[in-house]
Amino acid sequence: MSRVELMEKIAGEVRVCDKCPLWEGRQKAVPGEGDINTSIVLVGEAPGYWEDVKGSPFVGAAGKILNSLLTKIGLPRDHVFITNVVKCRPPENRAPKPNEIKTCTSLYLNRQIALIQPKIIVTLGNYSTVYIFSKAGLETEAIKGITQLRGKVYQTKFMDLPVSVIPMYHPAAVLHNPKYSNALENDFELLKTQLQKLKLIGLR
Ligand code: URA
Ligand code: SF4
Repeated sequence: MSRVELMEKIAGEVRVCDKCPLWEGRQKAVPGEGDINTSIVLVGEAPGYWEDVKGSPFVGAAGKILNSLLTKIGLPRDHVFITNVVKCRPPENRAPKPNEIKTCTSLYLNRQIALIQPKIIVTLGNYSTVYIFSKAGLETEAIKGITQLRGKVYQTKFMDLPVSVIPMYHPAAVLHNPKYSNALENDFELLKTQLQKLKLIGLR
């Protein structure tokens, strides 16, 4: 099977998954999408209203903010892979529960990352940051939370592969409080610098 076929196989499993209670409330599961030959994976929290309707990640209000942040640093959205910690929308957009995160990531997110083997993982929001940090040997850092962790690049290993993790606020945070806007813009500039440092193509 080609890499594209392997990723499509994972997506197919996600779309019919009933392995945690979140399947019951969903309209469409959201496996994730983008370039599977990319070096950059963005990991959000969970699908929201529009993601659940459309089956694609970051297509609602938070998605608009994410798109403009990507545009500002000249990184086309179709040059990265975008997904979430859990693939089905939690009821009323509540936070995903620990057992849901554990089940979903071990079945899908870990395999997606293993397949892509990214050089950079951008974690959007606290849930994604804590999950990736914990799995990447940064458990003691993870407990600090996103506010303390953001603004830096962390060199570590994720499932034995070297990777730069760049934790950021969730783009939806800007919707609730515009004060997060500057921090997010600065963190995307940090992503741009890291891409240039690693000589990764993809910037326009
Ligand atoms: N928020 C997320 O964390 N992920 C999405 O896909 C959309 C909104
Ligand atoms: Fe399956 Fe993940 Fe959806 Fe739960 S959230 S039903 S584990 S795809």
